[in-house]
Amino acid sequence: MNAPFDQTIANAEKHLARFRQGTVEHLIDGKKDKGSGQTFETASPVDNSMLAQVARGTKDDIDRAAKAAKRAFPEWKKMGGAERRKLLHKIADAIVARADEIALVECMDTGQPIRYMSKAALRGAENFRFFADRAPSAQDGVSTFGPDQTNYTLRQPIGPVGVITPWNTPFMLSTWKIAPALAAGCTVVHKPAEWSPLTASLLSEIALDAGLPAGVFNTVHGFGEDAGRALTEHPDIKAIGFVGESATGSAIMAQGAATLKRVHFELGGKNPVIVFDDADLDRALDAVLFMIYSLNGERCTSSSRALVQASIYEDFIRRAAERVKKIKVGHPLDAGTEIGPLIHPKHLEKVMSYVEVAKKDGAKIAVGGGRANGGKGNYVEPTLYTHADTSMKIAQEEIFGPVLTAIPFKDEAEALAIANDVRYGLAGYIWTRDVARAHRMAQALEAGMIWVNSENVRHLPTPFGGMKSSGIGRDGGDYSFDFYMETKNVAISTADHKIPKIGA
Ligand code: NAD
Repeated sequence: MNAPFDQTIANAEKHLARFRQGTVEHLIDGKKDKGSGQTFETASPVDNSMLAQVARGTKDDIDRAAKAAKRAFPEWKKMGGAERRKLLHKIADAIVARADEIALVECMDTGQPIRYMSKAALRGAENFRFFADRAPSAQDGVSTFGPDQTNYTLRQPIGPVGVITPWNTPFMLSTWKIAPALAAGCTVVHKPAEWSPLTASLLSEIALDAGLPAGVFNTVHGFGEDAGRALTEHPDIKAIGFVGESATGSAIMAQGAATLKRVHFELGGKNPVIVFDDADLDRALDAVLFMIYSLNGERCTSSSRALVQASIYEDFIRRAAERVKKIKVGHPLDAGTEIGPLIHPKHLEKVMSYVEVAKKDGAKIAVGGGRANGGKGNYVEPTLYTHADTSMKIAQEEIFGPVLTAIPFKDEAEALAIANDVRYGLAGYIWTRDVARAHRMAQALEAGMIWVNSENVRHLPTPFGGMKSSGIGRDGGDYSFDFYMETKNVAISTADHKIPKIGA
């Protein structure tokens, strides 16, 4: 996608025109569905102008979707992995065919720069292919042998499941939950984020066109407090795969308690990148900057805390600041843009509120701290806070914007203490050439995922998820199937063992 800017804008407008004309509908039981007639607006972060009216899902809409998913479940389960595999590859093919459209629409609905979003659509297709290929073996288990007894386990899909997703890279993230659920043999009701509903509606169209049987995949748009809540409370929904804030995870756990929902949570992060003085500092600098300033910093695995060894701190931070000043903030569809506008005025307000907090707590604003684009749209300057310590709010709270907090440390012990001194535990990044130290740190860091001398490079079979307030459970490879399936053990007697007699 290397068309000139005005051509890219025209292409995006072409795809957005249909959204502007009518109401974005739900997909329920294989049909587009207006629901109750209530709607909400989704706006462009570029200027907060309206992009589309979207059906606002109610408890009744969720009920109809959940019942459709329940009706469709027995056939979908029985269909077998090989057939499901074919259908999921058809979805992946359609995503690839419509990748430009998905990318352009997602940029305008979220503010994410096109340089990242074009790949995100294709990664969504990869997620479908990856889990499609595993569908035929998803049910496989293990055999174990006792005296006079043979055991085997099998896995069976848990039933209709709910998937609730956030607004940062919404298309890719939702495929990461929906693809394994469908591959496992579950039927799905998806409730996408209300701030970025458009590409979820494209996915529902794609699934319909690919020939998924009615009710296997349903999308209900709407707000967390009504549609989201109703989904988590619905008795026919057996599990909830959720990606979003930690506080929402707590609410969902409480809402799902009455129906004993199985939950899988991918929540917030305040991830440390730890740079020791023996590291390849050029590569470390590239990775530190990429992992906080790409995707507008609206990324759960962002390296939002840079812990830099005191011996190199001043120099490293000076070099970082020079680069941050040059980051190009601009329109999401401009190929040169590195940071686009933040998703929503409310989120902009949250990110900006930390500027005063940082000053009050005694941190230094080395770069940024203001609005960009003359205050029009949700643009912010990439910001670098330095001379921070771990007690400050900017070192403890998830800001979820292009904002880096740099903290010096003396030695390995102090680096570890600071790194673990947060309530989150999603990811950690370690930069050192000392192999033993890399292993010591990796093992002691309280985080579900560690990258050594690397930015976040995903490998789909590996477990993805967090500890502490960052989540419950893991996705990826077989881990996803463990969540969407029940493991059943079958024990068979292979000899006439002694059965205890009672009442004989
Ligand atoms: P959010 O929790 O506000 O919303 C996420 C989804 O939950 C939305 O669809 C929303 O409508 C729904 N929701 C809200 N309240 C609900 C309720 N009471 N019941 C049911 N559903 C409800 O999160 P957000 O602001 O959209 O996303 C940003 C957050 O997501 C950040 O904290 C980020 O770290 C996290 N995130 C985590 C990962 C990960 O893999 N760990 C990935 C991406 C984003």
